Amino acid sequence: MTLGEKQTIIEKEVLLPKQSRKEKARDLQLLQENLELILKHQDMILASPELFHSGPVDAVIGLIYMGGHRAPIGVLLRLWQQDLLMALCPHCAGRLYIFSAGGSPLSGINRATGICASCKQFVRTGLPSIGMVLKALKELKASLNRQRILRTRGQYFSFKDGLAGEPVPDVILEPGITPVSFEELLCRLKQHDTEKQ
Ligand SMILES: [Zn+2]
Repeated sequence: MTLGEKQTIIEKEVLLPKQSRKEKARDLQLLQENLELILKHQDMILASPELFHSGPVDAVIGLIYMGGHRAPIGVLLRLWQQDLLMALCPHCAGRLYIFSAGGSPLSGINRATGICASCKQFVRTGLPSIGMVLKALKELKASLNRQRILRTRGQYFSFKDGLAGEPVPDVILEPGITPVSFEELLCRLKQHDTEKQ
């Protein structure tokens, strides 16, 4: 398409609906209870964009100065497959699946939260290197759920008239993916399990 003089195409991350603190906690609990189920069906999740972009809202990877984003379950699975955001559980030495990590690239200080596959506990820990978070954030940014929007500058400012012209509403060119809720994702995985038996 040819763009007009006042038109630009922008990309915006598709955000999930806002959740209350209680809903966020419930989703993390669901992750804890269903980690095995999710790992078992990772191929199914990775193959479907609406499942890929689902997951708890509170799974976030970020770095000071570089920003942060919510990490969809598909991105977490890909990171875990590469042994990124994986650590050892300090309680039982089981595999710790980290779903949230952040820190400062300057000081190297970082914090991560994960779920242990063996003792099922939530564990807060620090990763041996900030490079792990950097790599994870890079991978996350490459797989963000983005929508493409055509923006037209209809309004402008002039000293004589102040704000002039009429605002032109954005046009969504590509809406991005609408992920299923985390609960729905788990329902589908369970259903898949029963159908196979
Ligand atoms: Zn453990």
